[in-house]
Amino acid sequence: MTIPFLDLKTQHQDLKIELTQAFTEVLDKGWFIQGDQLALFEQEYAIYCNTKHCVGVGNGLDALHLILRAYDIGAGDEVIVPSNTYIATWLAASYAGATPVPVEPDLTTYNISAERIEAAITPNTKAIIAVHLYGQVADMDAINNIANKYGLKVIEDAAQSQGSLYKGRLSGGLGDAAGHSFYPGKNLGALGDGGAITTNDDALADKLRMLRNYGSQVKYKNELKGFNSRLDEMQAAFLRVKLHKLTLWNQRRKTLAAIYQRELQGIASLTLPFVPEWADPVWHLYVVRSTRRDELQQYLHAHGIGTVIHYPIAPHLQGAYSELNLGPGSLPISEKIHAEVISLPLDPYLSTEDVTSVITAVRQFHA
Ligand SMILES: *Cc1c(COP(=O)(O)O)cnc(C)c1O
Repeated sequence: MTIPFLDLKTQHQDLKIELTQAFTEVLDKGWFIQGDQLALFEQEYAIYCNTKHCVGVGNGLDALHLILRAYDIGAGDEVIVPSNTYIATWLAASYAGATPVPVEPDLTTYNISAERIEAAITPNTKAIIAVHLYGQVADMDAINNIANKYGLKVIEDAAQSQGSLYKGRLSGGLGDAAGHSFYPGKNLGALGDGGAITTNDDALADKLRMLRNYGSQVKYKNELKGFNSRLDEMQAAFLRVKLHKLTLWNQRRKTLAAIYQRELQGIASLTLPFVPEWADPVWHLYVVRSTRRDELQQYLHAHGIGTVIHYPIAPHLQGAYSELNLGPGSLPISEKIHAEVISLPLDPYLSTEDVTSVITAVRQFHA
C-alpha cells in the first residue's frame, strides 16, 4: 500500500526517545503492576477527561464489563446497546451475565437513536450503553433524560472518542461511568492492550479499584470475587508520553477530516459523515457510506490505498449471538450501515498530500 490505512510506526518513530525513556524508567525501577506510573496516568487522564476518577484496567472490554459488575448488573438483567457497534459493547453485557438488547441507530449519525430507546425498556432493563461511534458523541442529553425517567444507569463506551465534545462537555464524563480503550489503533493507544474507566462516582471508583485487582483493596484481603484486569506500569508509562500529544493529534485529525468533508461533497452514491451542531468529533475513523462499497474498496486497494470496513458483520448476525435469534432483516438500519460503510485512511501522521491522493482516487472511481 502506498497509503496504508494506519501506520503506527511513524507515530512511534516520532516518540521513540520519550517511549524508550519511559521503558527504561520502569525497567530500572523494577515495579511492574499497580505502581507510580499507573497512579500518575490515572490522575492525568482524569484531568484530561475532566472527571473525578480514572481507574486503569486491562482493556476496553473489561472496562465496560467491570462497570456493569460494579453496579451489580448481571443474570436476569437487560442492558440496552446500539445495534451497530463493535461487538465488545455487547460482550460486556454478556460477560456480566446480562442480556444485550439492541436498539437501532440514527442513520445520519450512526449512534444509538434516543427516540428508539424507550420502546426497548422493560422492567428488567438496568442500563444503557451509549457508544460514541467513530469518535462522535451520541445525543447524551436525550439519553440521560430517558435514563432518569426509568432509573437506568448510563454507561459511555468511549473507546473511540477520547477528547470528543458534546455541547462543549468531554466524552468520558457524560454519563454515570465510561469505558475507554487504549488498543494501539485508538486515538490514544498503548503499545499493547490497555483500558480505563472514568467516573465522578466515588463509591463506584472504589469498587472498581477492587474489582480489577482480585476484589482486594488491602493485599491478601479479598472482599469481592474480583478479576485480574490491571493497566500495567509499562503501558501506563507509554500512555503518559502519548497523552501529551493527544490534543495535537485530535486537532490534526480534524484538519484532515475537514479536507475530506469539503472535497468529497456532491458524489451521488457517497454519503459523508454528518456532524450535528452539538458534536465536536475527534474522528477516530473517517467513515463514508457507498452503495457501491465493495467495488470502491477494490478500486482503492488496486490504487494502493488501504481501507477498512468498520464493521463488516453486525453483532446480531454473528455466530456468537445466534441465541438471540435475530436473523437478517431484524435490525435493518444496522444491516444497511454494515453493508455500506468504508473507512478511508485518517491518522495524525498522514500528510495532506496523502489525503488529497485518496480524494482524487475516490473521485476518479465515481467519474
Ligand atoms: C475498541 C473498542 C472496544 C474494546 O476495546 P478493547 O481495548 O479492544 O477491549 C469497545 N468498544 C468499542 C466501540 C471499540 O471500538
